[in-house]
Amino acid sequence: MAENTTTTTTEKKKLFIKTYGCQMNVYDSERMAEAMGGAGYETTDSPDDADMILLNTCHIREKAAEKVYSELGRFKGLKAEKPDLKIGVAGCVAQAEGEEIMRRQPMVDLVVGPQAYHRLPEMEAKTQEGVKALDTDFPEEDKFEKLKRRPKAKRAPTAFLTVQEGCDKFCAFCVVPYTRGAEVSRPVDRVLTEARDLVERGVREITLLGQNVNAYHGVHGGGDMTLAGLIWELDKIDGLERIRFTTSHPNDMMDDLIEAHGTCDKLMPYLHLPVQSGSNKILKRMNRSHDRDSYIKLIERIRAARPDLLLSGDFIVGFPEETEEDFQDTMDLIKEVRYGQAYSFKYSIRPGTPAAERPLVDPAEANDRLQRLQALLGQQQKDIQDSMVGKEVNVLYEKPGRLEGQMVGKSDYLHAVYVADPAGKIGDIKRVRIVESAANSLGGVLI
Ligand code: SAM
Ligand code: SF4
Repeated sequence: MAENTTTTTTEKKKLFIKTYGCQMNVYDSERMAEAMGGAGYETTDSPDDADMILLNTCHIREKAAEKVYSELGRFKGLKAEKPDLKIGVAGCVAQAEGEEIMRRQPMVDLVVGPQAYHRLPEMEAKTQEGVKALDTDFPEEDKFEKLKRRPKAKRAPTAFLTVQEGCDKFCAFCVVPYTRGAEVSRPVDRVLTEARDLVERGVREITLLGQNVNAYHGVHGGGDMTLAGLIWELDKIDGLERIRFTTSHPNDMMDDLIEAHGTCDKLMPYLHLPVQSGSNKILKRMNRSHDRDSYIKLIERIRAARPDLLLSGDFIVGFPEETEEDFQDTMDLIKEVRYGQAYSFKYSIRPGTPAAERPLVDPAEANDRLQRLQALLGQQQKDIQDSMVGKEVNVLYEKPGRLEGQMVGKSDYLHAVYVADPAGKIGDIKRVRIVESAANSLGGVLI
């Protein structure tokens, strides 16, 4: 007997998210999209199609808020054409500016801080009733606990997983302790559950995220577990082949983590360990609580554990009262340490931070220093990349390359590598010999 069925299809609403800033924001955007999936939304790549536009903002450098206001201005026309369109601001600018955003841009419907985005579906429902929604609380409840388990759809072979948020270090230039709040670690069992979910969906590489990820101390049994302990737990997950973590503070590089770099095969030989400056005077004024020598000794110990480690770092030039001599100390440190990857910034004033009150370096001088620093870092990066030619590496394929039969993925050292491999599939890890070094990538052949 034929069954009489009626199929009702409700068309999904479209959500456009624009993400600014660090990997933690990339992860948060993904979780917000998943949360809104439960409220009948699917993501779109075009703001023109959207029923809701969400800007997930970053506040780390100057003019961040101004950029958000001008971006919002661009959506004014869309909102006029489509009055039902909802516009939201999330992330650290939302946290820092709060109500001011709605005052300056009355067309904004919701403002949500980084600790409250699990409440996004309720907030969106409010906006559907014509009520504006603002939530920049640091709520008691754990947002990750409130968010649904991650959807089961197959996904890319690499994923971010936030394990720690916030910071108690209060570097004199930085807004993170104010916008992201105090340091909090997620419990070990919740991280492992999320990691297993990701691996079941095809993920082979997980990057653990935190503003100070190596300060991780997640509840486990009756006590606490360090980041190294967590890495060893993740190491037991079949199908998970690679583990990375970022961003770390030199003072939290504990012995067990250094040792894991030498003994845990799944922990990749890449470490992002920002130093900010090579001048002891400036490091002190930055309230970094490490000095130049302790940083260099630390690098020596990590390299003794893992000699092929590729090191990455962050640098700030033109910090208040930085002299040419201080800057030369930074250049010397870079020459001594040698970085395979680096991020460098001109100091920018963050209102409310201790350094904001101090005398600035002449902007032309700061620009000139940044150029000289970036030239040195760029040369080191190129030399280290060129030195890979002739070496064998493992490459995790992430997508097809531009040429027919070509795959592109990342080496253990996070270099992008193109490989001619017509049989290759996304998610494969292949042994490859590097034969060519181009501007920002390597070319390899299958072994
Ligand atoms: N927790 C990491 C650490 O301790 O090094 C850094 C996280 S922070 C979000 C990322 C980078 O932004 C910093 O390492 C620093 O180089 C840069 N940064 C932060 N505040 C800045 C400011 N006011 N001006 C310029 N660069 C800044
Ligand atoms: Fe900012 Fe990193 Fe310093 Fe924390 S340790 S205040 S996140 S720079």
